[in-house]
Amino acid sequence: MTNDRANDHGAKFKPSMQELLSYNRSYANDFDAGHLDTTPLRNLAVVACMDSRMDIFKILGLDNGEAHIIRNAGGVITDDVIRSLCLSQRALDTREIVLLHHTKCGLHNLSEDKFKADLESELGIKPWWALESFMDPFADVRQSMQRLFATPFVAHKEHIRGFVYDVTTGALDEVTISDD
Ligand SMILES: [Zn+2]
Repeated sequence: MTNDRANDHGAKFKPSMQELLSYNRSYANDFDAGHLDTTPLRNLAVVACMDSRMDIFKILGLDNGEAHIIRNAGGVITDDVIRSLCLSQRALDTREIVLLHHTKCGLHNLSEDKFKADLESELGIKPWWALESFMDPFADVRQSMQRLFATPFVAHKEHIRGFVYDVTTGALDEVTISDD
């Protein structure tokens, strides 16, 4: 069976949706944020990894309505992230970008070539996207910052800052472009 590996945790998997929906009913009952505007109050966009241990609002002390949070595996600057940032800046007035990568990331030390070769041998099709695995989270943030500096679609480059979040301490470590 080709899906054996993906189903390794299947025995104890229990869908959450019923619980989530029941939570939402009480959330909607007490809802008081209907007045918030589409434009983020802090004119801020955060690009972060999707890691489940990163509560972006808590890590940065943000409230609902204050920032755009754009997430993917690794917090990588892909074309789609640039699309979101371009809209964020040009239509919704954000002027500051914070990048959050982190320690113990699922993409850390993963072999991009092996990942793709495994997919190709198993599925018969090679992914047309980059996995964007990396060896050093600090170098990876630097790479993301360089991509933002290079694209014409993102402005306000003087307000771009990048950090590595330590999932064991909760602390942010700033990355500067000149570090290497
Ligand atoms: Zn991650």
